[in-house]
Amino acid sequence: MKKQTLDRILQSQGFGTRKGCQQLISDGDVLVNGEPASGYKLPLDPTGMVLTVFDEEWPVREHVYLVLNKPANIECSRKPSHHPGVHTLLPEQFLWRDVQPVGRLDHDTTGMLLLSDDGAFIHTQGHPKHHQNKVYVATLKHEVDESLVAQLLAGVQLIDEPAPIAALAARLIDPLHVEMTLDQGKYHQVKRMLAAAGNRCEALVRSQIGGLTLASLGLAEGEWCYLDDAMLARLN
Ligand code: URA
Repeated sequence: MKKQTLDRILQSQGFGTRKGCQQLISDGDVLVNGEPASGYKLPLDPTGMVLTVFDEEWPVREHVYLVLNKPANIECSRKPSHHPGVHTLLPEQFLWRDVQPVGRLDHDTTGMLLLSDDGAFIHTQGHPKHHQNKVYVATLKHEVDESLVAQLLAGVQLIDEPAPIAALAARLIDPLHVEMTLDQGKYHQVKRMLAAAGNRCEALVRSQIGGLTLASLGLAEGEWCYLDDAMLARLN
């Protein structure tokens, strides 16, 4: 990372406007690698730097890559209309950094949601041609047997789609729960596929993206964590 003055480093990490960051430094609210920051005139190398702001440690990151265990009744949209947005679950700095969800989950869908401020990552991961496998577990309204699995694997016809759409994999967990793997992200795809198969999705959890599983993250609903290099490598 290139050398920058401390106020700019703080600003790049989402601690507010440049003036606001200068104020934080002047007020003595910032430590750099554990030492009180004396000023913001000298350019510093931010590589490996740990900022402490209001007693909380923030390693300097060029970009942030996050995974959130999204609860129900939270909207992914930038301008949520009926429920709070995902940003309400994240530190304020991430809003300043323009951290955005990669794709969307419905307001009532729970589970894994990737977020980042790296435009290239958001574009690649969210691109329809990227074909990232995603696994969902749906709770059904009506009990089913293996014939639903066969239907999902053979493909179901959605309105407005030119050809039937099939799940890459599908498995019955019990008569009211089906797990399905998709590599597309069409609007309400799981719910529409289940409706096309004559059922109704009562609840939906995204349990896996690429090779990264929700279970391995140990996140309670509403909790998030950074994606480290090993986790990023598990995404396609
Ligand atoms: N499919 C849906 O129907 N909803 C989601 O939130 C994700 C996939």
